[in-house]
Order: sequence, then structure tokens, then C-alpha cells
Amino acid sequence: MGEDTAFLVSACLLGVTCAYDGGARLQPELITLMAQGRVVPVCPEVAGGLLVPRPPAEIVSGDGDNVLDGQARVMTITGENVTAAYLRGAECALTAARRYGISTAILKQCSPSCGVSRIYDGTHSGRLVVGQGVTAALLRRQGMTVWSEEDRIRLLSLIQRPDLTGF
Ligand code: SF4
Repeated sequence: MGEDTAFLVSACLLGVTCAYDGGARLQPELITLMAQGRVVPVCPEVAGGLLVPRPPAEIVSGDGDNVLDGQARVMTITGENVTAAYLRGAECALTAARRYGISTAILKQCSPSCGVSRIYDGTHSGRLVVGQGVTAALLRRQGMTVWSEEDRIRLLSLIQRPDLTGF
């Protein structure tokens, strides 16, 4: 795998059934990127020790940055504090990126782990707010570029130009 053209990618976007509800969030363009040998899949929540399926969780009182700073927590809809698992999962994602010399991640928008610019507001009522997930925040703090599956123009550019790195 060429380290300059590989990407860390949310595993659910590659069809892995690791989402909280036991489903995947397949993004077909990313399958093409994977077939080109340019993808390292990661599911931070499973890597952090959570099961599939699992109760949905949201960040309460902030976003991933605040969780890293100990100022917010991740709570399931059933009232369990799963912050530690989210922090462990973020560290696992960072370790994988470093292992493969990866500097760009493509993560699933709106997730409390992987959300890039929007997350749910912590009330489990379906409302979105501006913010990022715990893994996205940690990767950015470590200097990585993070973008989401919603940026389809960039995705298509990557597939059509295997020489392109994160940009
Ligand atoms: Fe997908 Fe990330 Fe949630 Fe795992 S933690 S299911 S990779 S969005």
C-alpha cells in the first residue's frame, strides 16, 4: 500500500455491518477506492469495545473536542456513559493511521465518533448541530485531514486520479 495515497475510512462506509443498529452505511465510491488498495478500514466504536448492535449514543454538552478535554460525555439512549469506549476507539483509529503513515481520513458524517462537521445534539431527538465526533477531533488534533463521505466531488476525484493524496 502506498503510504501517500492511502486513507483511513469508516468501516461502515465500506459495507461492514458495524453501525449501532447492525447495519452498514455503504458508499459505493469507497469500495472502488478499497479495490485500488488505498483504504484502511476502522470502526472506532467497535475498536473501543462496543458491541453490534448497541444502543445509539450521542455526545452530551459539546462535541468531540469537548470530550477529549473532559468537558463533555457520550451517553447512550439508555443512560449509559460510554465515553471511555469512545476515547479508546479514537486512539485505536489514530494508531492505525500512524501504523500505515496515513494523513487523511474519510469518516461517516453525523456519528458521535466519526462525524466531521455535524453531530446529533445529545438529546436523542434527531436534531443535528455543528460539531465533530470524538475520533474526528482526535485525528485533527494530531494534524490529520478529515473529511466526510458527503464530499462526493472529492471522492470521485480520488477514484479517477489514483495519484491524488488527501487534499
Ligand atoms: Fe461507522 Fe464510525 Fe459508527 Fe463505526 S463508529 S459504525 S465506522 S460511523
